[in-house]
Amino acid sequence: MGVAVRPLFAFENSYVDGLPELSVAWRAARSPAPRLLVLNEELAGELGADAEALSAADGVEVLVGNVVPDGASPVAQAYAGHQFGGFVPRLGDGRALLLGEVLDVHGRRRDLHLKGSGRTPFARGGDGLAPLGPMLREYVMGEAMHALGIPTTRALAVVATGADVARETMLPGAVLVRVAASHVRVGTFQYAAVHGGPELVRRLADYAIARHHPRAAEAANPYLAFFERVLDTQASLIARWMLVGFIHGVMNTDNMTISGETIDYGPCAFLDSYDPATVFSSIDEGARYAYGNQPRIAQWNLARLGETLLPLIDDDTDTAISAATEVLHSFADRYRRYWTDGMHAKLGLKNDRPEDGALIDDLLALLHAQGVDFTSFFRALSPAVLGSPAPARSLFAEPDAFEAWSGRWRARLASPGADLPADLPATAKAMDRVNPVYIPRNHQMESALGAATAGDLAPLRRLLDVLARPFDERPGLESYAAPAPASFGAYRTFCGT
Ligand code: AMP
Ligand code: MG
Repeated sequence: MGVAVRPLFAFENSYVDGLPELSVAWRAARSPAPRLLVLNEELAGELGADAEALSAADGVEVLVGNVVPDGASPVAQAYAGHQFGGFVPRLGDGRALLLGEVLDVHGRRRDLHLKGSGRTPFARGGDGLAPLGPMLREYVMGEAMHALGIPTTRALAVVATGADVARETMLPGAVLVRVAASHVRVGTFQYAAVHGGPELVRRLADYAIARHHPRAAEAANPYLAFFERVLDTQASLIARWMLVGFIHGVMNTDNMTISGETIDYGPCAFLDSYDPATVFSSIDEGARYAYGNQPRIAQWNLARLGETLLPLIDDDTDTAISAATEVLHSFADRYRRYWTDGMHAKLGLKNDRPEDGALIDDLLALLHAQGVDFTSFFRALSPAVLGSPAPARSLFAEPDAFEAWSGRWRARLASPGADLPADLPATAKAMDRVNPVYIPRNHQMESALGAATAGDLAPLRRLLDVLARPFDERPGLESYAAPAPASFGAYRTFCGT
């Protein structure tokens, strides 16, 4: 008997075991020459895994899917989804696998998932593969969102497969190892409703309640309470996106989680100059998923979830519909509350005053009218609080309008009734904890991914380091805080990933 080798992960398979109808056992395609490009050591530690063992040849074989580790039971998960408004009853993991679940060091159940791991029975016309650039992009975006304090899936690793992927050109292929609270989506409920009916939906809902929203189980009507919990976490999530200028780009129902984590970083990007109509994705021709539409779309997606739950909410359809509709209609108020609270924090305002709505709306109209960079503007407000309005003013082509707004804002900050009217340094400091200096700027992302695809990972590592501490201004990183130069032109993101 040799020395017992500590397994990389202690896998559990509660989803596969509890809901076998919702996945298909499958294996990753063989990667000819796997090479670890990035490993998230912090996340590995959180998962209780040994980063050194993961980086060794045997570890990389597991991360790329060539070796199925003990206890893992890889599957392709089934789901349906409304894609750009049209229902597709059978989507599923076309190029991804759920490897298994791991209890992290905090006792939270996390999915380990491979993306880009080859064709599955859900692949339809796709090749099952992923190019390196988009997988690294998902890694960077997830880390950026995490550091901004926004619930998100994260990447544990990106492994180059050693095989090329055919897109418009031949590109190096890669597998992303994704960690998520779970991969249960609105589209998973839609799949269960269409292919299994109410009893399968009930088992899925019971699973999701136990895993993500356990308090709903204690409610008088657990399924209605579950719907309300999912809706509330999504209202909170979308408010957080909006407050940092994040545009998901493909808010299809299969890309909306039940856990409330952001998932599936495809053609997503951050807003630069403020305009609610901003769309970066080349496939979003109708601008359905424009920045300013995201709250409305989230509610639309949640209506689709609610529909699947109706038979569970009440035996009487009319009663079920009216109860679910009431919850659905609460979305706007909940979203507004989360968003308004966040805007208050961004502006250094305490308490909610009747005049604040107009103050905020007028600011956004001003930013829009003058095409001001959203991130730079909010970050420039803390110096303004401390008596240096120049950085904020300089962002406006016509600064008079800003001066007028700023006068109202300053008066509001100093007005009696604010908790700490005199403590401006503390206010400025608190604002700097919610208004990031560094976001994944589109031009920085493109240049880091371009270099990585050509074999130089240094710019990507630097970008990851910058984004890991988005609120701490650091000397030497000025170029990461600046908007793209005009020469960068109009940004387009592509979903043909
Ligand atoms: P996404 O736009 O990444 O959310 O993917 C939408 C659907 O298309 C999912 O069912 C994916 O699994 C599938 N899909 C995307 N790209 C590929 C690919 N290259 N091969 C197979 N399936 C894919
Ligand atoms: Mg997806």
